[in-house]
Formats: sequence, C-alpha cells, structure tokens
Amino acid sequence: MNRHLNFVTLICLITGFVSLVSCSNDDDEMNKYQKIYIRTGVAPGAEMSAVVVVDRVSNSSTADRSDFEIQLCAVQPVSREVTATLGIDTLKVNAYNSAKKTKCELLPGDNYDIEKKESTLKTGQTVAESSFRVVLKNIEKLSNPDGYVLPVMLKEVTGMDGQAVSTSMNTVYIRIYASILYTGYTKPADWAAVDRSAWDVSCSNAYANDDARYGAHLAIDGEANTSWFSWGVANAEECWWNTVLPRPVTLAGFSVTKQSAYGSSYNLKSAEIKVRKDGATEWVTYQRTLTFRSFKGNEPQYAVIEPPIGDVKEFRINCLSPDSYTGFAEINLFVKQ
Ligand code: CA
Repeated sequence: MNRHLNFVTLICLITGFVSLVSCSNDDDEMNKYQKIYIRTGVAPGAEMSAVVVVDRVSNSSTADRSDFEIQLCAVQPVSREVTATLGIDTLKVNAYNSAKKTKCELLPGDNYDIEKKESTLKTGQTVAESSFRVVLKNIEKLSNPDGYVLPVMLKEVTGMDGQAVSTSMNTVYIRIYASILYTGYTKPADWAAVDRSAWDVSCSNAYANDDARYGAHLAIDGEANTSWFSWGVANAEECWWNTVLPRPVTLAGFSVTKQSAYGSSYNLKSAEIKVRKDGATEWVTYQRTLTFRSFKGNEPQYAVIEPPIGDVKEFRINCLSPDSYTGFAEINLFVKQ
C-alpha cells in the first residue's frame, strides 16, 4: 500500500472555550469583582462581551512555526502591578474533547514553546503591554487525523489587590486541525471499486453548456479521452460532480483520473467531499480538503477517506481549484474488501 501523508494546510483555532460554558456566571462576577483574565485576537480595549475569543491562522507545510500572542488583561485598571505566568494544563484536554465532541490529543511537547511565560499589568492598565507568546513548531509533521489541542492557562498570578483570576477566561485553547490528504498513485491493496453501472450522476454545470461533450456521465464511461469538464467555481459559482448510488456503501476512498478535454493546467488540484447517508437529507462534509498531486498521464490518483464513512448513498466532489475550468475523465469510489 503506497499511502502518502500530505498536510495541505494546518489551521489553528484559538478559542476561549471555557467561557462558552460558564461565561454568564462569570460575566455576573465580572461586575462584582475585578477580574484578571487572558484572551487573544481581540484588540486592546475591546468590549468584554467578546468573551468568545477566536483567532485563526493558517500554516502551510513550509512554515516551521506559528506564533500566538496571548494578552494578560484586567476588567478594571489594576491598582498595582500584577504579574502572571502562563502554563499548560494537560488535564483540560479531556474536558475540551467532551465539550467539543472531539478526539484531540494533547499537543506534544516537541511541538510548542512558551517563549514568553511572564506578563505584567502595570498600575492603571487593563491590558498588559507585553503579551505572552506561544510558538507552535513543526506541526506539519503531526499525524493524528483528529487534531491536537494545547490548553494554556494563567498560573501564579501575583500582586492582585482585590482582584481575582477569572474562572471562565483563564484558559486559551490552541486547536490544531490537520487538513490531511492521503493520495497515492497506487490503489490500496484491500480496495474494491464500487460498481458504477447504476449510478445516477449529475453535475453543477458542463463547460459550454454542452452536456453531450462535457457532461457528468463522461466521468463514468470508462474512457480516458472523455471528461466531465466544467466552467469552474469562479465562473459558475459552483463546481460539483455528484452520484446517487443504488445502494449505500461504506466509502473508503475514491480515485480521479485527469481531465482530457483541455491542457494540464485545468487538471483538478483541490476538492472537498460531501456525502449523504441513506435516508438523510443533510450533507456530511469530509473534514479534510483534498489536494491532488501532478497527474501521471492517465493514471488515477487515490484519495483515502479515513476513517471510512458508512451508509453513503450519495457522493459529491466539490472542485475547489483550479477555479476556472476543471473536471476529470474518470472517477471511482472504493470500499474495503
Ligand atoms: Ca471518461
């Protein structure tokens, strides 16, 4: 089995997650007490109503680090200098997973540094001039498909004078999503192609509105020299190819053969997958964006759906790039034997 792991993008999401579950109580407390808290991605002086703190950065496989600035703040100007240190609370991973229904692992120690552990609120300040800094390193090498989380929290706050550490805003979760593509030029040995003979196929559009020449049916006719070819998402606002299966399958992956209508610059580069389960009306979007490598002639590329998705009755591939004109000559779905 020639299975390649290719991180396409890594998106880190920071969220003041604890505030989601208990902000109302703490908001009440905020009125009563002078709270010390941490946040990220919010401009100094922002309203305290912005308790759900979300920040996103994307990281490519070539970046070797991502920096996160986390601010030490107070609800009211502090009456004397308050100093705090930032630490990791490994026990909060389980709490995060049960609240978010995720299976994140704790970010391994090799993959981060707290480069600035200490921060100080000077007298009269509500936001410390100098932020804590957390740096993520080499996260493109991480392989847990469910991602990772790093709970960073306030520790050892000294100098408080009538204040208290916020119970709801003392932790920032750095979430690392892995957008993973498993492509290979070799079909995994335990895969069997799903019979295409009774598929009901459709597409968002066909190039030149010429269904006979570029329609969805040409992607399952077994011919490398006929292609579904589309206007592309930039020209037509949507670019998808769809099939309804005669009976549900447990989808382990799919393959795509390059389009043969026009030049190689129109070969599919990235896509997302959606499925509808038997009897369902809602789409389920596969969480990873798939990016294809260069096509080798008419050889298919195989994308692994991991874990396999059960009970798939309808399959849709949304072509993301190239965004003007793309398609494919053949597509196959696979189950495990
Ligand atoms: Ca074809």
